[in-house]
Amino acid sequence: MSDRSLLIGLDFGGTKLAAGLVDPARGDLVASVRRPTEPEGGATLALATMLEMARELVANTPGEVGGVGINFGGPVDAAAGVVLQSHHVAGWDGFPLAARVGAALGLPTTLENDANGQALAEWRFGAGRGSRSMAYLNVGTGIGGGIVLEGRLWRGAHGMAGEFGHMVVRPGGPVCTCGRGGCLEALAAGPAMGRRARAALAAAPPEIRDRSAMLRRAGSVAAVTGRELTGAAADGDTLALEVLDAIFADLALGIANILSGVDPDLLVLGGGAADWAPTLFARLLEGVRTVCLPGTENQIALSPAALGADAGIFGGAAIVLQPRA
Ligand SMILES: [Zn+2]
Repeated sequence: MSDRSLLIGLDFGGTKLAAGLVDPARGDLVASVRRPTEPEGGATLALATMLEMARELVANTPGEVGGVGINFGGPVDAAAGVVLQSHHVAGWDGFPLAARVGAALGLPTTLENDANGQALAEWRFGAGRGSRSMAYLNVGTGIGGGIVLEGRLWRGAHGMAGEFGHMVVRPGGPVCTCGRGGCLEALAAGPAMGRRARAALAAAPPEIRDRSAMLRRAGSVAAVTGRELTGAAADGDTLALEVLDAIFADLALGIANILSGVDPDLLVLGGGAADWAPTLFARLLEGVRTVCLPGTENQIALSPAALGADAGIFGGAAIVLQPRA
């Protein structure tokens, strides 16, 4: 593969399939295609659709393509190139995805899970450019993450490094998908944000509830999600800010723990968190400063992720560029 080769990034997400051609030297997305995932078609249809998208990209590019990187939304054995499990689509358990894609496209192919891929993508092409070590925290439907140390993805001894969502930050707190109580994910992921906002609205006196910008945005208490909460908080809605401050207290504790364990140059927040208003980011940073190790307050650097919906495609390309162990 020459330095001028383009790379194909394939992103198998829970709701969409995306494929793109990345120019690694320029950090540009040259072309991309997207289609919704059809869960009833299982792994077979998803793979066939993705290969069709990749071939279409290759056929339409005059440049040389040097390799394929796959970003998969679920646990994988990266060294073996095998998917371990998918929580969204049937038929993926034990699937040798890297070998199948590599054989079909005739290109060297590597596989990684989506949080690790996004971490590498932000480090190489996005908000983390220029940093040596970076922690990535994805706050979305769940909370995941990844660690890049001195330019290399750190997977850990069992591939579990960067699973920040399951750090317990409040013992005895709400039950998490992992079965324990008080994990960061159970307190601060998108669904937890929505739940905490709805609970606060339900408990508020009617005159406060009825004036809430969350309610105005969503139409009803039942329709309030994390998006209405952060939107209303950015507008200065008192109740929304109260709820968000409580959530940020939990999130800040999680972030302070990550900073203590990893000591990165930069912590990048991705997922829905990347869209938060700058005022909310400043508020979260203040929260982290109040709970971090005393003396480290001024070392803290938080940044929203920069790659948005293309993070998975860039993640694929970044995986290919990762030095092999
Ligand atoms: Zn958990």
